[in-house]
Amino acid sequence: MKFKLDKLASNVKAIRQDFPILDREVNGKRLAYLDNAASSQRPVSVINKFNEIYSNNYSNVHRGVHTLSMESTELYENVRKKIANFINVDDQNEIIYTKGTTESINIVARGWAKYNLKKGDKVVLSEVEHHANLVPWFMLRDEIGIIIEFIPVLDDFNLDLDSLEKIIDKKTRLVAVSQISNSLGTIIPLNQIIETAHSNGALVLIDAAQSAPHQKIDVKDLGADFLVFSAHKLLGPNGVGVLWAKMDILEQFKPFIGGGDMISKVTFENATWNEIPYRFEAGTPNITGVIAFGEAIDYLNNNNYVELCQYAHYLSEFARKELSALSYIEILGPSDPSLRSSLFSFDIKGVHPHDVAQILDSAGVAIRAGHHCAQPTLNRFGFSSTARASFYLYNDMNDVEQFIESIDLVEKRFL
Ligand code: PLP
Repeated sequence: MKFKLDKLASNVKAIRQDFPILDREVNGKRLAYLDNAASSQRPVSVINKFNEIYSNNYSNVHRGVHTLSMESTELYENVRKKIANFINVDDQNEIIYTKGTTESINIVARGWAKYNLKKGDKVVLSEVEHHANLVPWFMLRDEIGIIIEFIPVLDDFNLDLDSLEKIIDKKTRLVAVSQISNSLGTIIPLNQIIETAHSNGALVLIDAAQSAPHQKIDVKDLGADFLVFSAHKLLGPNGVGVLWAKMDILEQFKPFIGGGDMISKVTFENATWNEIPYRFEAGTPNITGVIAFGEAIDYLNNNNYVELCQYAHYLSEFARKELSALSYIEILGPSDPSLRSSLFSFDIKGVHPHDVAQILDSAGVAIRAGHHCAQPTLNRFGFSSTARASFYLYNDMNDVEQFIESIDLVEKRFL
């Protein structure tokens, strides 16, 4: 174990060189970036990719017969295959480029659920969802009269799996849940949820925004029907996301956004649709962003990201243990470490999380403070906001030490 940790620590030390932002100072202090659940940083290969494409290959995609357009189209389309491999999908045409997890879920709600669900059909969510997996369903409920029910979260921060049989029934058409809660850090055991959904004839959407950066996602193993995630949380650019669904399900979608590229033929009266995936990708897409995301995937694969993320988890657990020894700190999240991810929310009694984050910022430590776009989840536990530390594959023990020392500053200042 010790040997493995030393080896991982040395691998982290090596890859940190690839992230120029980690060298900068914040408020005169070394930067300890612990806001990775909100957005990760990028390696120089991803940053340079933008320069390379704009300097050499940039043109619009799919439209031109000239060399630059063909080059950028090839680079852009190659990433579809990379993403498909990354989540173990055989048919790259099942990968839809989006702006991010939020847009992906909205496309499922507006493009699929709106036309395939009817009044009285049930969509089951959980009580630990990000607003991105709540609000689109509320909007659809108000429009077509679906019923929304929730798998409850228990006082121990885990979902109440005993309630599944009661909540997921034959009226349920979709179960949409995250794999890791972004506010509590809970890892959701998906097998039982997926099994119960499928045995009732419901489809399952997995919000992998927090899980895809840290673990191997294999949609075949998972048995999911839809999977969504955002590039910016796994070393890629912001403004790029993924929607995956099985082809027979994608064929049930109606296009959600109309315009160029998504059509086969347009007359003054009407239009017919292009093939999938282009049918769902109207307009000029985020060409350079997608290509740079391909570079991020290469970086993750070439650096054995799953192993590096085990170190991030070790650091998160280490920091958590240190903080839990302090009587004035309450840490949210399951007591079973195997159900905890590499992020945790905490509350310093009597100190507003924004004040905590500000003091930490003065010490160069970047954490998140607020409701983490999970207001109902935090309210359920009696909070309107918390502080959140989240670790990723370039974090090291110096980050942890700086974080813990900066908590002392909060104590000195406020307690
Ligand atoms: N779902 C979860 C679990 C998240 O953590 C996030 C972002 O924090 C989202 C959805 C929304 O992702 P994006 O803002 O990239 O669309």
